[in-house]
Amino acid sequence: MYDIQKIREDFPILGREVYGKPLIYLDNGATTQKPRCVVEAITDEYYSVNANVHRGVHFLSQQATELHEASRETVRRFINARSSNEIVFTRGTTESINLLASSFADSQMKEGDEVIVSVMEHHSNIVPWQLQAARKGIVLKVIPMNDRGELLLDEYEKLFSERTKLVSFAHVSNVLGTVNPAKEMVATAHAHGVPVLIDGAQSVPHMKVDVQDLDADFFAFSGHKVYGPTGVGVLYGKEEWLDKLPPYQGGGEMIQSVSFEKTTFNELPFKFEAGTPDYIGTTALAKALDYVSAIGMENIAAHEHELTRYAMQRLKETDGMRIFGEAGNKSGVISFLVGNIHHLDMGTLLDRLGIAVRTGHHCAQPLMIRMGIEGTVRASFGLYNTKEEIDVLAAGIERVSRMF
Ligand code: PMP
Repeated sequence: MYDIQKIREDFPILGREVYGKPLIYLDNGATTQKPRCVVEAITDEYYSVNANVHRGVHFLSQQATELHEASRETVRRFINARSSNEIVFTRGTTESINLLASSFADSQMKEGDEVIVSVMEHHSNIVPWQLQAARKGIVLKVIPMNDRGELLLDEYEKLFSERTKLVSFAHVSNVLGTVNPAKEMVATAHAHGVPVLIDGAQSVPHMKVDVQDLDADFFAFSGHKVYGPTGVGVLYGKEEWLDKLPPYQGGGEMIQSVSFEKTTFNELPFKFEAGTPDYIGTTALAKALDYVSAIGMENIAAHEHELTRYAMQRLKETDGMRIFGEAGNKSGVISFLVGNIHHLDMGTLLDRLGIAVRTGHHCAQPLMIRMGIEGTVRASFGLYNTKEEIDVLAAGIERVSRMF
């Protein structure tokens, strides 16, 4: 049984009020709230273990290293990677994509080579490629979508050429909630001999992800969107790929030996982890993954699916409601506008009712251009949201829309 009251008690912040109203937190796409066990993992480690990892002979350093490496194993299990060598810790999805874009373009791409992305990408899966485009003269090709917010797979297939070197797309859109057919899209790319990076920032918190089943070559996600701490994320890469790619940053940890004549690099995954890692953050991330695993990713997905279905139905009761993203396979993200009401006005007035939503372009300006709008109001759900909260949201939207 999905015991929502018990789950909510694990998140102290959900009990607070804003403007004298109970907080209704519907900005989970931006970041999620943290359960007590995640926050406690941070304070516990600082209070009782803290020491730099991988370096010390002393007891605390060894204990911190064990915790850090056990966390890598927890991440491996969570996304079903073959080996923990395939789990690189980063600061988040953005850094994971930048790492790969830099390393991949440096070693695998020449002027005129192509990367395929989709029209619904977050800026963090566009700009790193544009930086490489400026450096190396590589070319971006864009998968279009239909008005329901579904990628056009026939058009995708047509984008491949002998110059295509990589495909990189979001598993789930942070604006539309569209769950892209990742496994099928990977198979298409592989049929052309092209590897794939999946941006899993918005999928990992909401569904069971199995990188081997997807057959993704690379997969990126952020800890803070899956109830973990800020500042820690993951780049998964198939070992045969990571072995081939050069380091991204240089420094301590990532080397085997250094002289002024020649430096040799450490083995995987340390080759990609220059400097002191956020070892406190990785412990807390592992706690978060254990927490959601104990509830069950399938149960979380079912709960959020029902919330989304209910919210779509309730929101459509408001006159002038326009919802962006009505894909057949949609996760718990609802972007909308009502009549001519500016998204910022709607968001600000909902905030006064205690409802936290996001407004604006959601770091996806090319998608806004495609839809002919400047921004939307976005409600995004997490494992602790309830139908009662959706009722308050629907009533809030109705109330705001009558003010205009
Ligand atoms: N990709 C997608 C689809 C996202 O939603 C986000 C966060 N909004 C990112 C990438 C970037 O994640 P982060 O800011 O944690 O690096």
